[in-house]
Amino acid sequence: MENKHIIIGTAGHVDHGKTSLIKALTNFDCDTHKQEKERGITINQGFTHIDLPNGNSLGIIDVPGHADFVKNMIAGACGMDLVMLVIAADEGIMPQTKEHLAILKLLGVKTGFVVLNKVDLVDEELLELAEEEVLEFVAGTFLENSAIIKFSAADQTGKSELIEKLTEASENIQPKNTAGIFRMYIDRVFVKEGFGTILNGSVLSGKVNKNDSVFLLPNKKELRMRKLQRHGKDVDDVVAGDRASLNVVGFKSKDFKRGMLLSDEMLKDTKLIDVQLSLFENSAQLELWNQVLFLHETVRVPVRVHLLDEDFLQPGKSCLAQVYLPFPIVAEIGDKFIIRNSSGNVTLGGGEIIDNHPLHHRRRRKGQIEDVQKIALGDTAELIAAQVRKS
Ligand code: GDP
Ligand code: MG
Repeated sequence: MENKHIIIGTAGHVDHGKTSLIKALTNFDCDTHKQEKERGITINQGFTHIDLPNGNSLGIIDVPGHADFVKNMIAGACGMDLVMLVIAADEGIMPQTKEHLAILKLLGVKTGFVVLNKVDLVDEELLELAEEEVLEFVAGTFLENSAIIKFSAADQTGKSELIEKLTEASENIQPKNTAGIFRMYIDRVFVKEGFGTILNGSVLSGKVNKNDSVFLLPNKKELRMRKLQRHGKDVDDVVAGDRASLNVVGFKSKDFKRGMLLSDEMLKDTKLIDVQLSLFENSAQLELWNQVLFLHETVRVPVRVHLLDEDFLQPGKSCLAQVYLPFPIVAEIGDKFIIRNSSGNVTLGGGEIIDNHPLHHRRRRKGQIEDVQKIALGDTAELIAAQVRKS
């Protein structure tokens, strides 16, 4: 049977049992850092995998639920094909339950289900109330008609149903595009004695073979591959949808910065991008010029956002905007992003990149804005015309 290449992940409020759920499924404790153990919360993303009864091995990303670490949750959520939104039955919907779901929507995650955890702590009446609250909460979102699995990480209630759901999902989910350019944003770097540098990440698109070389971008350094692993096993190729581990030669940790990626092509970096930007319903209004935090894959950078076709952006609304980055990043058309306020403690909204090498639209001339609008609507002819104008 063809192995499916899919990454599943957790989301939800702190202490609702995300890490415990993954431990119940895999026996692996994603809270590996000393500080995480001491505080009893997830700070970084955790990575593992699950081997399903149908032979599929799925990558897993466990994200932090705490409000202070939403930035780490966003980096993890960018790679997910399926999300398990964990809600504790005794506490119900909490602030990060809402924030995480809103982020997942903007990042374009399309499938998932709800795990109503800690059912051992509530009686039947409370459980029914919790389920009603969840149904109301997910109405109108991508989780609207999804299952709500009653679970307890403490006594393993619902575990077989959960595995069944994941198995079903692994058979039905449309995997990522393995035909395109290989792209993997590095989310973990470590040195293994006797091996050298190991780079981890979620493969977003394309594939790579163990005999290929890859480029570290945006600083354009070529790296030779020594060994390639997927879910702890040596493999010849890793493809889109895999959690991958690349043992490389030529990597210097002093060259590495958060937000860097590996690719099989020398992708051009950018400091200016055009986006379709949406604000959350409960967000503050944006002005013509704004200072915000821009989060895209593992990139996290303060940027200036210039609205293009509006003078103000109201909560719940969307418009076109141009993003000015202080240093170059690699981002492609169609990529999703999130913005937070400049101090980085409130998520404002996010959207999609519509042009990664646009012209400056500082003066917001009418014709120019109309061209951007056409590109945003997916007008291929206009996109080509725009490329010609730029050159
Ligand atoms: P996370 O922050 O969402 O990752 O939550 P954790 O998995 O770290 O769990 C938070 C706390 O809830 C821990 O003390 C767990 O032992 C406890 N816990 C998790 N799941 C259950 C459950 O199903 N029942 C009970 N009684 N406690 C649970
Ligand atoms: Mg956790």
